[in-house]
Amino acid sequence: MEKGLWPAVLGELEVSISRANFATWFKHTSVIANDNGFVTVAVPNIFTKEWLEKKYDTDIKGALERVCDGFKGVSYTVKAQHTQTPEPVLAESLLMATKPAPVITMPQVTSDDNAPGINPKYTFDSFVVGSSNELAYAACMAVAKHPGTKYNPLFLYGGVGLGKTHLMQAVGNEIKRRDPAKRVAYVTSEDFTNEFLSSLARKRTESFAAKYRKIDVLIVDDIQFLARKERTVEEFFHTFNALHQSSKQIILSSDRPPQAIVGLQDRLKSRFASGMMADISAPDLETRSAILQNKAAAQGVMLPLEVVDYLARSVVSNIRELEGALTKLLANCEFRGVEPSLSIAQALISGSNSRHHQKPPSAKVVLDKVAGYFDLQVADLTGPKRDKEIVLPRQIAMYIMRHELGLSFPKIASVVGGRDHTTAMHSVSKIEGKLESDEGLRQELVGIKERLYA
Ligand code: ADP
Ligand code: MG
Repeated sequence: MEKGLWPAVLGELEVSISRANFATWFKHTSVIANDNGFVTVAVPNIFTKEWLEKKYDTDIKGALERVCDGFKGVSYTVKAQHTQTPEPVLAESLLMATKPAPVITMPQVTSDDNAPGINPKYTFDSFVVGSSNELAYAACMAVAKHPGTKYNPLFLYGGVGLGKTHLMQAVGNEIKRRDPAKRVAYVTSEDFTNEFLSSLARKRTESFAAKYRKIDVLIVDDIQFLARKERTVEEFFHTFNALHQSSKQIILSSDRPPQAIVGLQDRLKSRFASGMMADISAPDLETRSAILQNKAAAQGVMLPLEVVDYLARSVVSNIRELEGALTKLLANCEFRGVEPSLSIAQALISGSNSRHHQKPPSAKVVLDKVAGYFDLQVADLTGPKRDKEIVLPRQIAMYIMRHELGLSFPKIASVVGGRDHTTAMHSVSKIEGKLESDEGLRQELVGIKERLYA
């Protein structure tokens, strides 16, 4: 058997399959036999076998045909490798293992003064690439490799929960990995606004300006919220120009392209559109499946294909919800001490299954359901009380109005008892922040949404 056969096949596959998928499914495979063109591939576990047979058979056969003279057929056999434990291998460690150089551990978010706001968990390796996001991915990779030269500014746009923040943060992490001396800053446009306004109040706008102009890579997330805040926009415009002129990289995201941001001055629209624009759309079925497998594997769980398929077909709108559905399933199975199965997935998900075809509920219904879920009165949510037990549900209600109903902040503020619109903004971002890390909150949200669409 030719020694270089399998490496050659992997080389072929690597270019046609996303990096995360390649690492997850091909890392511990090898060819153990080639009998006159009948090739046997060893794989580490049954899940990988199933996955290769179902999803990658054509790719693998195609590659074998190209590199193996007289190729006739391929079969897969489970063979534990001596270096491996029988337990499922964490995708995380598989992904790490694909890196050529020794892995540099990223400093934690907050401890790195040189990279404020950057979260080490968002990397290119953990990002699954599909047709819905490949342009954005490629643009981000190019920027990470050559910041400030190509694609400046880079403008990413697309709906909620489709991976904009993940990709921008991945650029920041990659730039820091390549050159730890680079000053990379990530801010949401709300942080930027608040910081600017407070410097204005304290008459410290000069140090604010100086700080932002020292940065090598400036990442501003959800730029649509800057619109209409005139003084902040003005300051941002100056910062933007100063950085741009000295070839510092700027990366922006928004829920829509610059031209469509209502209330943004034309000069900024054209500035934002002057570099590279890339959109991210809703992922297709295959990408959703791959994301589920990757996320499950990262938690040490290999999901049966039918479960992956069911979840991927049920949750179509965005990836955050897909993660939510998976979290719910895994938590439920762990709690009951059972393996994930199709019937459990169906029982858990069916309630929310058809809702993407329904009309969104009204703001009043949201108040009603959230109050009901937390055993409160609607009047508690709309009233002035600031007790902890009321504040969180109130914030959740506003979050749902924003993300599920797409209401404006002023509208949300008025529905929830005539509050100030900055309160609504603050509440929504508070929940967004918590959802990143708070598993319990995510599940509560899934529960509330189920009631909402029941
Ligand atoms: P956005 O900023 O567009 O609203 P996020 O970047 O916050 O979306 O993504 C929502 C969640 O989905 C995050 O946990 C992110 O890691 C995950 N996610 C999004 N796209 C992908 C992808 N292509 N591969 C893996 N995870 C993804
Ligand atoms: Mg985001």
